[in-house]
Amino acid sequence: MNVMNVYEILLNHFGHQCWWPVSHKFRPREFEVCAGAILTQNTNWKNVEKALELLYKNGMRTPEKIAVADIKKLEEAVVPSGFYRQKAQRLKNFSMFVMSFGGFAEFAKDVTRQDLLSLSGLGPETADSMLLYALGRRVFVIDAYTKRTFVRLGFRACEGYEEWRRFFEAEVTEDVDLYKEFHALIVELAKNFCRTKPFCRKCPLNKICAKKI
Ligand code: SF4
Repeated sequence: MNVMNVYEILLNHFGHQCWWPVSHKFRPREFEVCAGAILTQNTNWKNVEKALELLYKNGMRTPEKIAVADIKKLEEAVVPSGFYRQKAQRLKNFSMFVMSFGGFAEFAKDVTRQDLLSLSGLGPETADSMLLYALGRRVFVIDAYTKRTFVRLGFRACEGYEEWRRFFEAEVTEDVDLYKEFHALIVELAKNFCRTKPFCRKCPLNKICAKKI
């Protein structure tokens, strides 16, 4: 079994996921992906949608607006996503950072992974989600679901985020769209089958899994 066998089975079972979900209310739409990546830290997507809707209703729909927004108003808007003080500040810092390039288009062209990782509160999973889903860079996003599923399947556990990322990027040499799809499929599997308590009997990977229960 190799990593691409897993991808093919998941795609066959779940079909194309077409991530990342956007409402198209923000400008540019790629900025909404970045804002969502910050807001989704430690919460579910339903709460992120509520916070995005409040940002939109309060006129904070571009990096320009959020960079100069009153921090209290920003905090009120992101309350549904939890950790509202931290997230409001991270969103504002990120927007100011985007504007330091001159605008989102310039940011998208010139920003590096290292630049994003140097921002307070942006860990590798958040930074890589932005790079892949907003900026179309070929970076594999690693999350807790990915590690849990692949260890259970029988792959060797890597040492930390960067080793996992390098492992996937060496194994998966296809294009950016496949990277987007693969991460979304892993999330789908982890939510429906490979949960904390796995539901192996009906799992599409049952036949190739080393740890099935
Ligand atoms: S068979 Fe069970 S342990 Fe293996 S990937 Fe599926 S749900 Fe996870």
